[in-house]
Amino acid sequence: MTQVSVSAGTTLAEVLASRWLVALEIRILVSHVMGLTRVQLITQSERVLSAAEAEQLTRLFQRRCDGEPIAYLTGEREFFGLSFAVTPAVLIPRPETELLVELALERLPQNGLVLDLGTGSGAIPVAIALTRPDTRVSALDVSAAALEIARANALRHQVEIRYVESDWYAALSAEKFDVITANPPYIVAGDAHLAQGDLRFEPLSALTDHGDGLSALRTIIAGAEGFLKPGGWLLMEHGYDQAQAVRDLLGTTDMQHIQSWRDLAGIERVTGAQISD
Ligand code: GLN
Repeated sequence: MTQVSVSAGTTLAEVLASRWLVALEIRILVSHVMGLTRVQLITQSERVLSAAEAEQLTRLFQRRCDGEPIAYLTGEREFFGLSFAVTPAVLIPRPETELLVELALERLPQNGLVLDLGTGSGAIPVAIALTRPDTRVSALDVSAAALEIARANALRHQVEIRYVESDWYAALSAEKFDVITANPPYIVAGDAHLAQGDLRFEPLSALTDHGDGLSALRTIIAGAEGFLKPGGWLLMEHGYDQAQAVRDLLGTTDMQHIQSWRDLAGIERVTGAQISD
């Protein structure tokens, strides 16, 4: 195990040349701690670390060496070109989830109503609401701690989103939406990935359904017809090997135009269907 130690009196240039982490991670954490832009890191390279800065850097470098995701160390992650607050109470937004946002935006009528299930950091509803100010966006999560972050992200981006604490559709009454989006927990219980990399630090209940990986998707599909307007779309992100299973589940409903879309890695990542008019 690496034991990190950054001393007071070290110059920025020396810290940036150190080998505790890869160069990019060092730059991200140093600019976070010092409150400097990446350019300022270079123009102020002779600057000397205070005791407090050295101590904070030692702590963050150590946590990164021990595997913590950089987004939890800085409290930020970019998604859809926007900066979102993240904490270990929420999943770190993934680039492949931008596909879900794009597909939702393409299907939204003027003044449309959107519902995001299991919203986590709120990255999906904020991206939709900012891109399409005419829409009204609702977002649910069963986790009060997640909703706190989601609310902070709506405030940060100055968009109005209705957040409701709810176990999937449970807290909704008779309401219908034009588009329902969901990036639910879909990793199979006991999958080796849960014990590797960033996933070790993310909320388990946002990653896995503690079952076959499809139980949240099943619940979402089973309820969708009751909450979609005629012509409305359900769009769900899922695991790399679940597209066929999700299409089969949609096939047990009256929904039409069942299809899957590939992410930038070429993996079928989102599956959806439309309520008949
Ligand atoms: N895409 C995430 C991962 O595999 C999982 C997110 C989820 O379960 N919704 O790392």
